[in-house]
Amino acid sequence: MMILNDKVAVVTGASQGLGRGFAEILLENGAKVALLDLNETLGREVQAHFNEIYGSDRTQFYPCDVASDELFKDAFQKVLHKFGRVDVFCNNAGILNEKDWEKTVSINLSGVVRGTYLAMDHMKKQNGGQGGVIINVASMAGLGPLPGAPIYTATKHGVVGFSRALAETSNIADYGVRINALCPGFVRTALLNSFQTDEKAMLESIMEKAKFLEVEDVAKAFLLLVKDESLNGAVLVVASAGTAFMSFPTELPRTPV
Ligand code: NAD
Repeated sequence: MMILNDKVAVVTGASQGLGRGFAEILLENGAKVALLDLNETLGREVQAHFNEIYGSDRTQFYPCDVASDELFKDAFQKVLHKFGRVDVFCNNAGILNEKDWEKTVSINLSGVVRGTYLAMDHMKKQNGGQGGVIINVASMAGLGPLPGAPIYTATKHGVVGFSRALAETSNIADYGVRINALCPGFVRTALLNSFQTDEKAMLESIMEKAKFLEVEDVAKAFLLLVKDESLNGAVLVVASAGTAFMSFPTELPRTPV
């Protein structure tokens, strides 16, 4: 198990919702945490709140847009300048906007790729790094369709595939970096209220029947992916029925159609 005292973590989309929960469980376990988010007002409030509870030197908020190469890189450099290293990187920022689908791709998928490569370049042994772990937040929509949200579904499938392929690459090339994906079911956060689509009624009818998770349940699953050093390329599903690792076929079907 990875011990988090003296480790430095970065969480994107940390001003509220799941990202805030991930930041808090990392703090509870001894890490220092950089909070990155577009929402500066909320981010600074969260920093002040965490400083009161966990001490004034353990949390720092940085404004950041994961859709921008330049702004993301700039925020990452500021984190390195302040804390000297990064050991845990959580790509969590995401939106649910089917109308502006290119923006959704740019945040949910390209943003995860940007963050992962920034972290990987810093952490990998071949660059003189000390290893680490990257957790990419996908969704159950990364494993099956979310009706009314085909673009969101595509980006989350992309996050799962990207994370698994890079995990295997890291394993074979011995980068010393683990990459895992987290796939939660519904959690009541701002994301669900902000759903932009012509098919809003479709998601609302699904949500009427859904059982919602608590942020704390998802944060516990997240922590497992961070701490368990045997996990690389893992895809952890957090559903109301429980938390379970996803297993994938090792061979593609060969039966002719
Ligand atoms: P949320 O809306 O509560 O929080 C998302 C945060 O990301 C916000 O603080 C927002 O300001 C920030 N953000 C948005 N665009 C950004 C950008 N370009 N750069 C930096 N920060 C940005 O949402 P949440 O529910 O906590 O979602 C967090 C992650 O969990 C997302 O990737 C989401 O897809 C995923 N997820 C959510 C649910 C759910 O039901 N809420 C389920 C499965 C997966």
